[in-house]
Parts: sequence; structure tokens; C-alpha cells
Amino acid sequence: MASANHYDVIIIGTGAGGGTLAYALAPTGKRILLLERGDYVPREKDNWDSRAVNVQGKYQAKEVWSDQDGKALHPHTNYWVGGNTKFYGAALFRLRKEDFREIKHYGGISPAWPISYEDLEPYYTRAEQLYHVHGERGVDPTDPPASAPYPHPAVSHEPRIQQLSDDFARLGLRPFHVPLGVMLDEKNPRTSTCIRCNTCDGFPCLVYAKSDSQVVCVDPALQHANVSLITGALVRTLETSPTGREVTKVIVERNGAREEYSANIVIVACGAINSAALLLRSANDRHPRGLANSSDVVGRHYMGHVNSVLMAISKCPNPTVFQKTLGVNDFYLGSKEWDFPMGHISFVGKLDGVTLSAGAPAIAPGFTLDLMANHSLDFWLTSEDLPDPNNRVTLDREGNIVLAYKPNNEEGHGRLIKTLERVMQQQTKCQVHGHECHVGLFSRNLFIGQRIPLAGVAHQNGTIRFGHDPKTSVLDVNCKAHDVDNLYVVDGSVFPSSSAVNPALTIVANALRVADHLKGRLR
Ligand SMILES: Cc1cc2nc3c(=O)[nH]c(=O)nc-3n(C[C@H](O)[C@H](O)[C@H](O)COP(=O)(O)OP(=O)(O)OC[C@H]3O[C@@H](n4cnc5c(N)ncnc54)[C@H](O)[C@@H]3O)c2cc1C
Ligand code: SF4
Repeated sequence: MASANHYDVIIIGTGAGGGTLAYALAPTGKRILLLERGDYVPREKDNWDSRAVNVQGKYQAKEVWSDQDGKALHPHTNYWVGGNTKFYGAALFRLRKEDFREIKHYGGISPAWPISYEDLEPYYTRAEQLYHVHGERGVDPTDPPASAPYPHPAVSHEPRIQQLSDDFARLGLRPFHVPLGVMLDEKNPRTSTCIRCNTCDGFPCLVYAKSDSQVVCVDPALQHANVSLITGALVRTLETSPTGREVTKVIVERNGAREEYSANIVIVACGAINSAALLLRSANDRHPRGLANSSDVVGRHYMGHVNSVLMAISKCPNPTVFQKTLGVNDFYLGSKEWDFPMGHISFVGKLDGVTLSAGAPAIAPGFTLDLMANHSLDFWLTSEDLPDPNNRVTLDREGNIVLAYKPNNEEGHGRLIKTLERVMQQQTKCQVHGHECHVGLFSRNLFIGQRIPLAGVAHQNGTIRFGHDPKTSVLDVNCKAHDVDNLYVVDGSVFPSSSAVNPALTIVANALRVADHLKGRLR
């Protein structure tokens, strides 16, 4: 008789990948166990408090990793039911069609994915429906073709952002509404779940109106009697059969004690850094370099984007509450002057003086932090970093995470910043100051006290890539380990290249794709 601790499927991690997979497999009726090291984010006023969230890091992981020089690294990552989606900005982009093919960058080659955009398209459509994405098709010049409209209308711009959008359009750019996973009903504000507040990006949603994996996937999955969740369950290692071809035990540390679980199929979805660490920690005689690591690829090709937060200070204030509505992708694949990809321009949530005090920018002359925050447009610029085998996750002797990362492909990003500066100087829509309204661009130093860029960990991907060749990839096209018959990975680790748009929707869509494969296998 099967033991009570034996399941059909175990999913480790409840973020974008794991939570979505649980949701998709729940209706199969199979016994499914979710193991999550974190707990539920407590619902409390601090959820929406800048000081608690951004200055005190109340909800941030308390672990200390190290960088390649052995220096302490305090990762800005979140261990909770829902994973990092509890804190994300919910900008839910599809990768561009081109991102699935090989692309020549100034700094090298961005490799092709083993699947095409067309393979993932139906799952993107389902992902957008599941995560309540609000957007408008066909305005973003890099938008890939889609088989259905967005399920909800785009989130409107507030007046200052609309003014900027008009200015950009006048300059010949094609600004668009960022696709957002927030449950906002602008036509019926009285009944709208989302109240359009200023504490969304980086904060948990106190009213459960953000489409995070807990709210839209894990909680509904748990409505099925065949699905269960154990929180506070840190998966330490995976053990295999003597042949090494099956994972036979999932070893968990919970409340300081060791517990064992097993399943016919084990799915790892701990986020790109922790998933790689788990496989490396699970080395055994049959897998001496780490579980499923005959290729020596596990942990390598870590990517996290080249990111900047830039505050464009204007003489006029920016009273915007929900700022993350505007995007510009005109330079995503290059420009007339520069034949290589540069990246993506959009916004972070509106910065305030309290948040700025956690990583103070160079202060604009005549401004205080509060004044700067009141007058800033807070841009988020993302460019693609390339998969370098030496940018990698390893473990130190105690099994702690070591993250080695040397930035690459930065030239395009530098040009993107200069391009933004140039277009900001050409604004005319301000009735008072015209193009003189723009004071300058200031870099917000997000990374004080951090050894690697915070955002580098936020967009972590690439450490357990999928591909056709077992010599150069860990997973096959279905995200099953080449070396192990019942082991899958469905989080950001699988990315062969990072693109320059936010990763979560692609993680979600891929989890839905893998779920379809697994449903066939479970049958
Ligand atoms: C502040 C912030 C803003 C962001 N904004 C955006 C955005 O606007 N758009 C976007 O697309 N992306 C955004 N991201 C990134 C996005 O959140 C991630 O890409 C996404 O959540 C990654 O999904 P995942 O499944 O790979 O991992 P995660 O969501 O990180 O989930 C991993 C889960 O595994 C658990 N876990 C880890 N190790 C173990 C273990 N050993 N045992 C058991 N459980 C374990 C973790 O607790 C976690 O719940 C943002 C991230 C942050 C931090
Ligand atoms: S903007 Fe909406 S979804 Fe975001 S935190 Fe506020 S209420 Fe929640």
C-alpha cells in the first residue's frame, strides 16, 4: 500500500511556475502536494507601508548568500506562498517573437529557444486570461501576434503619464499601455477589487487584487480535495533510486525536523537560483556534479537583465498614484543609428521619499528626497543580458548559495539611457515650462548594502536551461530532466535567453504548456 507521504505529483515552490502548474493539474484529480518553504504573507497594514517593505525589508528573505569574492550578499527575494509574484509589479509581457530565435547583440549572441513563439502562443493567451491581464494589442510595435484580445481593457494613464505619452508620440515613438495583472475595473470603481493605489510594485496586495500566484492559482487549486500544501517546508535534497533515473525521496526540513515525501513525478519550481541550488545539493554517486547535471550546465548561464531605475526630475510635480502604465519598445530591437537591441522602457511604481532613503540617489540640486520623489517620473529600463556559463550559482562548503555574476552586453543599455535622456529633453507638453521642464535623469541607487543589483535577483532566470541537446541543456523540450525520468523544472530557470521584457508571464505560460504534457503522462 502506498504510504501517506506518497503522492502522484510533488511541486516544490508556489511562485509563478509552481503555483500555476498546481492550478493547471488540480482538475486531474491526482494527489498533488505543494511544498513551500515560506508561509502565507500576513495580511496587515505593513503590506502597504513603504518603510516596512522597502526600508526595513520586513518580508524579504533573511538568508545571506555570497558573491564570487566571498562577500556577503543579501538577496532581495521573497519566500512566501505565491513566491515573488506576491511582490511583483504584475507587468505581464509576452516575449517578443524574435526573442525565441537567435539574436545578434552588440555583446554577443542571444541563443534560440527550443520552442518557437507559435508553440507558446496558445499558452500565453491562457496565461493572460488566468492572470487577468489588462492591455491593448497592436500599439506596441514589437507586439507579437496573438490569437485573442487581452481579456481586460488597458489600465488608463493618469494625466502626467498621458502627457508624457503624448510627448513621446509627437516625437514619432509608439508608446503603449503596459499589460498589467491587476483586477481593476475602471468602469465600476465602487465594485472594483483593485483600488489603484501607490503601493503595488514591490508590495503585497492587501486586498488580493493583484494577480499573484497565491491568489489566482494556489488558493483555487487548494479548493480541490486532491491538492494539499505544506508551508514552512524547505526542501533540502532530492534522493534517487540506485540507478539514478528516478527521484525517490524529497527530503524536507520543517520546524527543525526532517520529513520525507515521495511522488511519481517531482517538479522543481524554487526560482532560478534556489532550483539550481537544490539540484546541486542533491549530488550523489550517480549524479556526482549535482542531480541531472551530466551536462555540467546546472547553475550556469544565470541571467537577471541589465536594469536601471532612472528618475527623470521635472520642474512640475508628478502627482501620479499608479505609475506603471506606460511602456516604450521602439528601441527593443535597435534603432536607425544602432543596429543592435537596446531594450525596453517602462516604469516602476511611484517612488516616495521614504523608499528613496533606503538607497538614496544623487540628489538633484535644490531638491530634497521628498521633493525629488514628488517631481520624478520613475523609469524602469531593461536590456538583455547574455547567458555566460561563468555567471553561475554554486554552493559553498556549508551548502550556502554563491552567486557569481559579471555584467555583460551593457553597451545597448547605455545607449537606451542616452536615448531616453534625449527624448525627455524634447518634451513640450508642459504648459508652464515647455521642454525646460525636464531637469535631468538621476540614477536611483537601489543597491546600497547589496553586492549585486537587486533587480538582478528579481528577474533571475536561466540556470537550468531547456533544449534539445543533453550535452548543452539540463531539460528536454517538455522541461523534463534529460538524466532523470520523473524530474521536471517549471520556473525561470528554464530560460535559454533572458529577452528584455519581464519574465513572469512566460514562466506562467510555460508552466501551462508543461501541465498539458504532464496531463498526458498522468493519464
Ligand atoms: C519587486 C519585484 C517586482 C517584480 N516585477 C515583475 C513584473 O512586473 N513583471 C514580471 O514579469 N516579473 C516581475 N518580477 C519577477 C517575478 O516575480 C519572477 O520572475 C517570478 O515570480 C519568478 O517565478 P518562479 O516560479 O521562477 O519563482 P518564484 O516566484 O520566486 O517562486 C519560487 C518559490 O519557491 C519557494 N522555494 C525556494 N526554494 C525552496 C525550497 N528549497 N523548498 C521549498 N520551497 C522553496 C520560494 O519560497 C517561492 O515561493 C518582479 C520581482 C520582484 C521581486
Ligand atoms: S494597485 Fe490594485 S492590485 Fe496593486 S496593490 Fe493596489 S489594490 Fe492591489
